[in-house]
Amino acid sequence: NLTQRLARVVKTMRGEARLTEANTAEMLREVRLALLEADVALPVVRDFIAKVKAKALGEDVIGSLSPGQALVGVVQRELTAVIGGEEAVSGGADASKYSELNLNSQPPAIILLAGLQGAGKTTTAGKLAKWLIANKKKKVLTVSCDVYRPAAIAQLKTVAGQVGADFFPSEAGQKPVDIAHAAVDWARKHYHDVLIVDTAGRLGIDEAMMQEISALHATLKPIETLFVVDAMLGQDAVNTAKAFNEALPLTGVILTKLDGDARGGAALSVRHVTGRPIKFVGVGEKLDGLEPFYPERMAQRILGMGDILALVEEAQRGVDMDEAKKLASKIKKTGGFDLEDFKVQIGQMKKMGGMGSLVDKLPAQFSQAAAGADMNQADKQVTRMEGIINSMTPAERAKPELIKASRKRRIAAGAGVPVQEVNRLLNQFDQMQGMMKKLKGGGMQKMMRAMGG
Ligand code: GDP
Ligand code: MG
Repeated sequence: NLTQRLARVVKTMRGEARLTEANTAEMLREVRLALLEADVALPVVRDFIAKVKAKALGEDVIGSLSPGQALVGVVQRELTAVIGGEEAVSGGADASKYSELNLNSQPPAIILLAGLQGAGKTTTAGKLAKWLIANKKKKVLTVSCDVYRPAAIAQLKTVAGQVGADFFPSEAGQKPVDIAHAAVDWARKHYHDVLIVDTAGRLGIDEAMMQEISALHATLKPIETLFVVDAMLGQDAVNTAKAFNEALPLTGVILTKLDGDARGGAALSVRHVTGRPIKFVGVGEKLDGLEPFYPERMAQRILGMGDILALVEEAQRGVDMDEAKKLASKIKKTGGFDLEDFKVQIGQMKKMGGMGSLVDKLPAQFSQAAAGADMNQADKQVTRMEGIINSMTPAERAKPELIKASRKRRIAAGAGVPVQEVNRLLNQFDQMQGMMKKLKGGGMQKMMRAMGG
């Protein structure tokens, strides 16, 4: 896992004052792999790594940071800047700045949606209408120019009805440009603030489709021309984005299907190719599955590393490295892991800010998995476990099998807990011991999951 890999590299880089070719090479290799694993297109990866390198080399390592931490900082800032624009870095997490649609035109403000078939245009038309109605109090008209598939027109009608937007009827066989004219007229006469134009898409890029959408654009002169793209396309997103960017003056991008297991590399590729901001992300088939785009979160998702900088800092501050090393080598050598070790682990976890704060810093996939668990409860339980182990004698900690009924009663009384809790702890310890044998060191995340669950 990348977090572990990077954390290891970071450790080997401690104690140097500057970022150099030598001390960044290994780290940059890991970042490169992470980007490729996240499905960022190769030319984009090359460009990005070159940029990071140029920014990083010669940079002083300030204050208490290690070179590794400094480099992680550069990578995160640079990735956030590339996918969100420079302003995303200085502006912090204020998403509204990046996701605002531009509606500054004579009404109706026209939004044209373009993209391949299946990208999610029709669904997104409904989501955008819902968003505009709920958040901007706009009167919205929708129209479909997908004249090749009657079902596509019916689909938009259904979707519009579900979100309370108006629908301008069109028919298979009509000319898209004629439909567009008529819809704009209708919107003007009926005081619609916004007109959302859904279009046809082909399975692949073809000349006829590009000409049709260019003609539509020329007729409508939309204030927003949004490229809708499926995040699952991964590497192929580059070519699609190129084609649409050449045919149309795009004003923004909507990345759909990010609720799946797409790693989000398409965000970087598309941004790189079009230079246009990603305005929204689609996160579900339902019509409320639309979210503002947060560049920082996306950068983390792509790197798959959560807030690794903070994690690494805390790990170095809170955890006694010698202690951890001793423990790791002991486990490696003997496969043994006693209650004393268990106690050391619990203490280290507490120094790092408890379970909740650790989970916050894990990559999104993990934090989401842990979202249901009550972290305060978990922290309390950890404290009680510590109390129980404190009530044991050193001999008992080293040889838990000594702990029979009368000892259990004594330990429970000492820790102020019922005997069942001592039993539970011994069971958990048993499981953990088995797991530690399998893991042979490391495995902090798995261990945390076992303790939290
Ligand atoms: P179009 O051909 O571009 O109009 O695409 P559609 O809007 O018809 O969507 C194609 C398929 O993708 C449909 O099954 C949608 O439900 C699905 N879809 C669209 N957006 C999302 C999304 O954000 N998440 C998920 N999981 N599915 C989506
Ligand atoms: Mg459609």
